[in-house]
Amino acid sequence: MTQEVEIRKSVCVWCKGECGVLVHVKDGKLVKVEEDPEWGRKVWPPTRACVRLQAAKEYFYHPDRLNYPLKRIGDRGEGRWQRIPWDQALDEIAQKLKEIKEVYGPEAIAYSMGTGYRTDPLQLFRFFTILGTPNAIKQGHICFFPRSQVANAIAGWFPHYSVRSATKCIVAFGAEPLIARPITSKSIFDARERGAKLIVIDPRHTRSASIADVWLQLRPGTDVALLMGMVNVIINEELYDKEFVEKWCYGFDELKARAEEYSPEKVETITQVPADKIREAARLYAINRPGAWIEGMGVEHLQQSIQALHARWILAGLTANIDIEGGDEFAGPHPKILEYGEVGPRVVLTSEQAKKQLGADRFRFFTFEASQLIAQNSEKVWGKVSSAYFIAIASHAPMVLRAMLTGKPYPIKALFEFAANPMVTQANTKLVYKALRSLDLHVTTELFMTPTAELADYVLPAACWLERPILWDFCGYSSYMVAGEAALPTVIPGEYEHKTDYEIWRELAIRLGQGEYFPWKSLEEVYDACLEPSGYTHKEYVDKVRCELKPPKYKKYEEVGFATPTGKVELYSTVFEKLGYDPLPRYQEPAETLISDPELAKEYPLILITGGRVREFYHSEWRQIDSVRKLRPDPIVQIHPETARELGISNGDWVWIETVRGRVRQKAELFDGIAPNIVHAEHGWWLPELPGEEPWLHGVWEVNINVVLNDDPEVCNELSGGWPLKTALCKVYKVKKY
Ligand code: SF4
Repeated sequence: MTQEVEIRKSVCVWCKGECGVLVHVKDGKLVKVEEDPEWGRKVWPPTRACVRLQAAKEYFYHPDRLNYPLKRIGDRGEGRWQRIPWDQALDEIAQKLKEIKEVYGPEAIAYSMGTGYRTDPLQLFRFFTILGTPNAIKQGHICFFPRSQVANAIAGWFPHYSVRSATKCIVAFGAEPLIARPITSKSIFDARERGAKLIVIDPRHTRSASIADVWLQLRPGTDVALLMGMVNVIINEELYDKEFVEKWCYGFDELKARAEEYSPEKVETITQVPADKIREAARLYAINRPGAWIEGMGVEHLQQSIQALHARWILAGLTANIDIEGGDEFAGPHPKILEYGEVGPRVVLTSEQAKKQLGADRFRFFTFEASQLIAQNSEKVWGKVSSAYFIAIASHAPMVLRAMLTGKPYPIKALFEFAANPMVTQANTKLVYKALRSLDLHVTTELFMTPTAELADYVLPAACWLERPILWDFCGYSSYMVAGEAALPTVIPGEYEHKTDYEIWRELAIRLGQGEYFPWKSLEEVYDACLEPSGYTHKEYVDKVRCELKPPKYKKYEEVGFATPTGKVELYSTVFEKLGYDPLPRYQEPAETLISDPELAKEYPLILITGGRVREFYHSEWRQIDSVRKLRPDPIVQIHPETARELGISNGDWVWIETVRGRVRQKAELFDGIAPNIVHAEHGWWLPELPGEEPWLHGVWEVNINVVLNDDPEVCNELSGGWPLKTALCKVYKVKKY
């Protein structure tokens, strides 16, 4: 039967744009997706210009899209698959889970999660908590948890992630918002037009750097020293807000003593940023108030990520830039949305199981213990706990992978992936590969076959955002909330059979005898329950509200204090102290630099940094979509022209990037916005067009920069365990024709 075209209101979550879109549907089929002109948040470049959105139909109906459950029938990695019915897949998986749980305990089952809004992190947490495992491995260690959890620990909440009209100074810290954050980029352009200053901290001359007032081109990995140098200037020149510091900051005297170690001249020797430029940046930030920070993954990829973010919050505290209009604004929890733990039957991991979280004895910042320590202050001040405190609980992925291989401290026998592709996105790919091959049960939910899925036992076809309802309140920080309806059916008989991740967890839970913990039949019912205090169902919320920007209320601390143990901004962190760490930032040279390892540097004289974002792709996604891929067909490594000349490399040459751990190849781009002894390689690369079976694994060994990076716990951040992606020693040389 042919119907009229219907228009469904949805939210694209293919990247952090979270753009409101209108999905045109006829007979259950996608006709087109277009920008919703009434959407309340504008992005730059505009939604209508987005190459990914323009490829929506190509993506959804791609011939390689996974449409039915697959079961491995050959050896692992052999590429031989059998299509099986959903019931069979879920029955078999449930049975294997039962067996593993019985023999090895629930902690032997691990799960891996990628970007939060691609799946549903809270229901995911519910499922595995009921199962009894503490072992989540997430990309959060290098993406968002450091930002989120340091803000919670030091200042009691995470800020609105945009720039407001009152903002007079913006600091982009290890971030390239003009590429990676379409919402923020629009607000930065608007602020610049109003005369706001811009400071960019980045070893590369990014687009943001090109429009900045001050670009601090630091040596990779020296961020803590740089920011402590700014702290030194602000204290010694008395540019800080004395009244705010006295009333609302904890540990000023201790900070002052620590900051004495970081004179601009000394910091110059560490960071290679001229002392006068450090002074200029410190003055610019301290004088032009209010100032807001935009931090990015560039900071989170550092060996000293947590300390660097602590120093960033110290600067915000000294200048009273917190919880004021145009500064680091705090929305607080949404009063009419239920957070994790407030919806449905209560599920809690026993303390005995929580103690088994791998890595928790050494890296204590993303643990159940730390989360509780931080969350209790939130409850005191905000009256509830943001879901973010639960999302930021994760085992240490490198240790979980090692446990898969060694059985120590106990065996890990099963792994589930949701919106995750660790063969591409986890450092030390060779170890990841061996670990995945050692499993008794490996299940992936995916949209397309990936190098990781090729090593699975079951590959379950996931629904994408076009097929599922969306309700996203920024991990519970609630400065905004967006919602969209499921625009397309998850199943069209004879064409495809997708499931939302939620349906998979619920159906497995029922098979495992735990169905009472999932009373909602669909994800939409879950969202109805979350929205109950608002008086809307999810459908009504989509129809009537859809994109909500919470009206700000400033200086709430004057009534309730900050949600930290001392009720103040903790320049000196009592949380870090209680967890057994240095309560103040102190610079340490990363493990693998020209200074810390001069012997290695003789053979590998260049500094490798990775992870800069590009507009076409979202981390490891989109390489198989032709219309997008043709805009960026090859992985690019940026090399300074002088270095390239010395090495006989021309623009467009394929080059090997080699570290002590191996080599991969990318295409050289001569780029003078980087120091001559630094190269920058793109992350997230694999080649879907190459065969999936071993040894190919879609080119993962050829171009994936994580093959040459280190995840050894010895070089990870001492608080969080985050692995360094920004400081490795390498050499680069031309690929010989073969
Ligand atoms: S891919 Fe990102 S920028 Fe493009 S429409 Fe979707 S959310 Fe917006």
